[in-house]
Amino acid sequence: MAVTSLFTRLNPLAPKSVDTDMDIAIVGAGFSGLGMAIQLKEAGIENFTILERAAEVGGTWRDNHYPGAACDVASHLYSYSFEQNPNWSRAFGQQPEIFDYIKRTAAKYDLYKHIRFNTSIVKSWFNEDEGRWHAQTADGEELTAQVVVSAVGALSDPAYPKIPGLDDFQGKLMHTAQWDDDYDLGGKRVAVIGSGASAIQVVPEVQKAAAQMTVFQRTPSWIMPKPDRPIPEKEQEEYAERPFKLHKRRFRIYWMSELFAPFIISNKKFFKTQAEKMAKQHIRKQVKDRDFQKAVTPDYAIGCKRILISNDWYPAIQADNAELIADGPAEIKANSIVLKDGREIEIDAIVCATGFKVPSKAAPFQVQGLNGLDMNDAWDDGAEAYKGVAVSGFPNLFFLMGPNTGPSHTSVLAFTEMQMEYIGKAVGHMARNNLKWIDVKKSVQDRFNRGIQKRMENTSWTSGCNSWYLTDSGKNTTLYPGFNWEYRVRLWLFRPSEYHEQPADKSKKNKAA
Ligand code: NAP
Repeated sequence: MAVTSLFTRLNPLAPKSVDTDMDIAIVGAGFSGLGMAIQLKEAGIENFTILERAAEVGGTWRDNHYPGAACDVASHLYSYSFEQNPNWSRAFGQQPEIFDYIKRTAAKYDLYKHIRFNTSIVKSWFNEDEGRWHAQTADGEELTAQVVVSAVGALSDPAYPKIPGLDDFQGKLMHTAQWDDDYDLGGKRVAVIGSGASAIQVVPEVQKAAAQMTVFQRTPSWIMPKPDRPIPEKEQEEYAERPFKLHKRRFRIYWMSELFAPFIISNKKFFKTQAEKMAKQHIRKQVKDRDFQKAVTPDYAIGCKRILISNDWYPAIQADNAELIADGPAEIKANSIVLKDGREIEIDAIVCATGFKVPSKAAPFQVQGLNGLDMNDAWDDGAEAYKGVAVSGFPNLFFLMGPNTGPSHTSVLAFTEMQMEYIGKAVGHMARNNLKWIDVKKSVQDRFNRGIQKRMENTSWTSGCNSWYLTDSGKNTTLYPGFNWEYRVRLWLFRPSEYHEQPADKSKKNKAA
């Protein structure tokens, strides 16, 4: 059932239909890439190709199929506004259902015919004379397109921990994002490394299946109760029959999240105290032992790392077959893990719930823009873009989930949908004005980022903990330091005056990829 969002319907500035033979390459067939493709189709642009390195759509929801994988954003908000789903079976969607939703949506909008699977880009460069991007695939093929949209996701490349001896481990080694469904945890002695968002979901499932579970928690997370529930069929039918109710539910979840944003983002004492009080209550309710309470209580400001939601993490790590080690491993041997105090634990399998390499700190692949400018050089001091979407010196290249557009308190789609609209408007402007390329002005980008970094000073994220949000020098290049509604307003208009423009050479006709 398609329900065009009220916002889009009422938005007089939404991208208009354009008639163009401009060719566009979208890199990545996850939520963002597919959403971008739908946006282009709605604007009447069919000349696009989605380049996907895997063999199926779905991005993070294809890759993260570890037991317990779910979304910690409510289902009705973690879906496209223009393709709402009345049939979510739970308040918080689980991976199989979200993955099905993505595949179903891709099929419904006839996107599969636009996708080149198993196509991994290793290098790309802009040819200024042609006004086209060239890209080399891992197979050595060269592709070209006038416009490129990078939709590679914020967290798609798993990071394994740097622990001495990990490579010599003889048992089963798995990352949460590279789960082996054929491996049976039943009766095994399993170590889980990590206590972040992925760990708190996989650990309760590992605990149920394994004979013995050892959890390595180097830093505890702040955890809130998860207000999850099954959604009865009757309620689902109502959403299907009365789309207004579905809109209303989404609207309510959206604004509740916005209301809670300051408790997560702001470093003001009032917000921190209130939020920490709630999280500590959750600990006291689920953990009775004082020493254990201490071990799982973070010593950094709430919100500094991602706030997690779970009702079964604390029970799982206190179960009879579980042991919590409040530290990382010292060393890994062929069949055991050595603790920092010298104790050695025999194990059969290691689950690394150790997160991802973060591309908003570096280019997703080698990218060369105007005058051979390498994106990693341009991002020497951390990734920066204008509104998270365009990077000066890299014409006709747009980002979805680019620098400083990560959500801390709401659905990532609330950010990416605005970016898709903005990119749609940029492409429309190029087509209508017969432009070869547009490149955001450096002064515009710098002014925007000075503002972003200034606001970062008063956020929880820069209050003194270590997280994947920050670069090595402590700069937050990943999250947006404000409300989503405010970001939406910022992206509402595409202002041509903020871009350098290069008119098309009328004597040459662009060649399709
Ligand atoms: P993460 O938040 O980066 O957590 C990685 C964990 O591994 C941390 O606890 C970290 O400890 C630990 N670790 C890393 N190296 C270690 C070592 N050598 N020894 C011991 N521990 C080590 O990664 P994640 O849990 O995969 O989550 C990443 C992001 O993915 C989340 O922030 C979220 O945005 C997203 N995510 C979302 C959902 C969802 O429901 N929507 C679910 C899963 C993930 P330290 O904290 O001490 O570094």
